[in-house]
Amino acid sequence: MSSTAPVSRSVPVPAAVALPLPTAAPLRYDWQPAEVEALLGQPLNDLLFAAQAAHRSWFKPNLVQVSTLLSIKSGACPEDCGYCAQSAHHETGLAPERLLPLAEVVAAAAAARAAGATRFCMGAAWRNPTDRHLEVVLAMVQAVKDLGLETCVTLGMLTAAQASRLAAAGLDYYNHNLDTSPEFYGEVISTRTYQERLQTLEHVRAAGLKTCSGGILGLGESRRDRSGLLCQLANLPAHPESVPINLLVRVAGTPLAAAAPLDPLDLVRTIAVARIMMPASYVRLSAGREGLSDECQALCFMAGANSVFSGERLLTTANAGAARDRALFARLGLACEETSLTGRTTPGACDKTGQRADRGAGAAQAAGAAPAPAVAP
Ligand code: SF4
Repeated sequence: MSSTAPVSRSVPVPAAVALPLPTAAPLRYDWQPAEVEALLGQPLNDLLFAAQAAHRSWFKPNLVQVSTLLSIKSGACPEDCGYCAQSAHHETGLAPERLLPLAEVVAAAAAARAAGATRFCMGAAWRNPTDRHLEVVLAMVQAVKDLGLETCVTLGMLTAAQASRLAAAGLDYYNHNLDTSPEFYGEVISTRTYQERLQTLEHVRAAGLKTCSGGILGLGESRRDRSGLLCQLANLPAHPESVPINLLVRVAGTPLAAAAPLDPLDLVRTIAVARIMMPASYVRLSAGREGLSDECQALCFMAGANSVFSGERLLTTANAGAARDRALFARLGLACEETSLTGRTTPGACDKTGQRADRGAGAAQAAGAAPAPAVAP
């Protein structure tokens, strides 16, 4: 018996299935150095996989936030940070400069915005700002915010009152790095204690400012010290919203000028573990990026870095320029976050509830919603 009904010989195509998204684990604040040291030593493939999962549960995976950093007052710093070209304790040949005029700062911020930056960071080489200096910085903050940029300043130690004044002026972020572990810290800096750094971070948090705090690798520290630094950051009462991971730039005339170079894969590992421990924070690939190959930077992004400093200078040392970054981002299929003026969702605070603004699966899950597909920009 014959049939005229068409016979399909094609292989049935299954209905499209949404791949499961990584589940956003609750934020932790009880990390132990030995546990973190073990994480740092995991096979690299395993570490990258776990870091990517953490990253994708909180962030859109192919977006990078771009900041620009301007030195508003360079050199003659009374502190003795062993890595720093600006310390008055070291003979680096850096000519000290006075606090920049407001107009110059505004022009630099406008140029940074035109080049794609969404955050403008201003750094001054002070132990702490005087109230007279603070007045000038407050005006800078307000003028840069008027351009539609997020603002960040790094001015050294702050009192509670100074932090409150910066918050009232509309400052978004305050940067104050912990640099390294408490145990290794004394090998690098003697003029400011670890506790003083933690105190400034406390003032910053209490004032309602977002915290930018990270460290430097390649100072001669051990893997245990890197785990100690990460534990300090991740066990703060709230994870810093921004975590810069710097690679030492060896500056002639500083005590660390001859430090042994770090294996770049240790930078990748540290970024991956920072991402796993502080999954809702921006992890920034910071100083030292200029010396990395494009392939190493790609690994850093795969490890969960999602923020960079862009521009030819990073305070007083060279940095990857905007043109090189554009070319690299194009090769990697990365896009830059846009400014709040053009509609980017402003990040929410990162606290123990895990409540964040629009950040992919993690935010929705923290709010009790069903996971939504992560959408590449
Ligand atoms: S890192 Fe900052 S505090 Fe330390 S010497 Fe340099 S400018 Fe001064």
